[in-house]
Amino acid sequence: MADKFDVIVIGAGPGGYVAAIRAAQLGLKTACVEKWVNKEGKTVHGGTCLNVGCIPSKALLETSHKFVEARDHYNEIGIEVGEPTPNVAKMHEFKEQVIAKNVGGISALFKANGVTALEGSGKVLSSKQVEVTGHDGEKATYEADNIVIASGSVPVEIPPTPLTEGLIVNSTGALEFEEVPKRLGVIGAGVIGLELGSVWNRLGSEVTMLEAMDTFLPMVDKDIAKETQKLLKKQGLDIRLGTRVTGSEIKDNEVVVKYADAEGEKEITFDKLIVCVGRRPYTEALLGEDAGVNLDERGFIFVDDQCRTSVPGVYAIGDCVRGQMLAHKASEEGMMVADIIAGHKAEMNYDAIPCVIYTSPEVAWVGMTEQDAKAAGIEVKTGSFPFSANGRALANNAAEGSAKVIADAETDRILGMHIVSQHAGELIAQGVIAMEFGSSAEDIALTCYAHPSTSEAIHEAALAVDGHAIHMANRKKRK
Ligand code: FAD
Ligand code: NAD
Repeated sequence: MADKFDVIVIGAGPGGYVAAIRAAQLGLKTACVEKWVNKEGKTVHGGTCLNVGCIPSKALLETSHKFVEARDHYNEIGIEVGEPTPNVAKMHEFKEQVIAKNVGGISALFKANGVTALEGSGKVLSSKQVEVTGHDGEKATYEADNIVIASGSVPVEIPPTPLTEGLIVNSTGALEFEEVPKRLGVIGAGVIGLELGSVWNRLGSEVTMLEAMDTFLPMVDKDIAKETQKLLKKQGLDIRLGTRVTGSEIKDNEVVVKYADAEGEKEITFDKLIVCVGRRPYTEALLGEDAGVNLDERGFIFVDDQCRTSVPGVYAIGDCVRGQMLAHKASEEGMMVADIIAGHKAEMNYDAIPCVIYTSPEVAWVGMTEQDAKAAGIEVKTGSFPFSANGRALANNAAEGSAKVIADAETDRILGMHIVSQHAGELIAQGVIAMEFGSSAEDIALTCYAHPSTSEAIHEAALAVDGHAIHMANRKKRK
């Protein structure tokens, strides 16, 4: 038997690495097992998020956005740059540098905090033992008082469109196209589809998105989702709702996709196809036969509100458990379980987790939609404000979108905030903090905002809840 630890974390994504650092900060002897190896065969920390998820996608979203700014908008504001051309290889180089800096940062944090980094694949055995199979096949077994499983998720595959090297790819493949595909198909108009579809659309691809549902972004407030759909359509994203993909064929290095919609059977040909129809929990080779850790009916590791599994002392967090598949949700759960293991009281507020889609403009939301609230029988009042009436947004030449605040009609407590705008992903933090503190719309309305700032649109939306927005013509008479 090798070393014994207070805590062994399996997986070093944003769930696992944060749990490990926090546990070590709290004085617990902590190890973190990670099996991910990069193209050079070196173990890397950071999981999906840093290696093939949040970080690389945001690097490409930012570079492609800057390209569009230079191509389509600089001349509007008096900057003449001629015709810019995207250098895809250089964009990837930048993306790789960003990944390397982030990944290196985690390894440095492990060292600084005294987290033991174990390389290889971790398996939970009975009696809180963890077997680690190194990259060379050597096995070692460690004992722990507590285990935190943070094994993450992988993309869902669907039978009609099996992945085909370089032609039908998942999100990881779509982050690596060496050239801009002329005709790009995307199955699933969810978060990944919209973000990666936007990247390649901006760089010149003709993008067609086939989405099974009839509703666009059903988790977003209807007004904001409708506005987003209009804005993305204007950019050239052809989003086809209510489609059912029935099959695909590779012909002459092209992908022919068969699908059905309300009009009947159809066929469309692409140069590349991205399949992004969701992700599923990753639990392969993770649980020994007598580990005793139960899965739920959808294959997620079954946990309670505080991420306890069916085995005392074994916790699970992040994408491999119920809830939204978001890096910050995984990290918050990681901190919560480390605190619980260290004997502190800790809990998560699952009602105040922000979501952001990094299109341009960005879509960001927290809490209920107006439709959710009504369906739950809650009477609401709402306030909306367009960025076209915000001075800073106009000066930024980015005045598209609007902000909406949803409040309880009786108590004025904020139930949700939904925004589509430039930097909505930053603005939404105001809604999260407000909800975390149980604020009312009036609390925001009575707060002094810096001028000029795009945040003033949030102030105005909160004022509009009672019909008193200043920079809007149709306001109610103050009582
Ligand atoms: P992961 O990040 O998946 O990490 C799990 C780790 O566990 C991996 O490193 C894996 O190798 C390791 N592992 C698994 N099994 C074992 C084992 N048996 N032994 C050892 N190691 C093991 N979320 C956001 O919040 N914002 C975004 O902008 C965003 N963008 C995204 C873009 C893309 C293209 C994708 C694919 C995802 C994106 N996500 C985003 C989702 C986000 O990446 C995940 O929610 C997040 O990474 C989940 O963290 P995690 O720690 O639970 O799992
Ligand atoms: P998603 O659930 O966001 O979207 C998948 C979409 O595919 C849905 O709209 C669904 O209706 C559709 N779909 C499912 N099966 C289909 C089929 N057979 N044909 C056509 N459409 C189909 O999933 P995703 O975009 O793959 O992202 C996976 C996870 O990663 C999400 O949970 C998301 O939270 C996370 N993620 C987050 C961010 C972010 O926070 N900015 C970015 C990327 C990914």
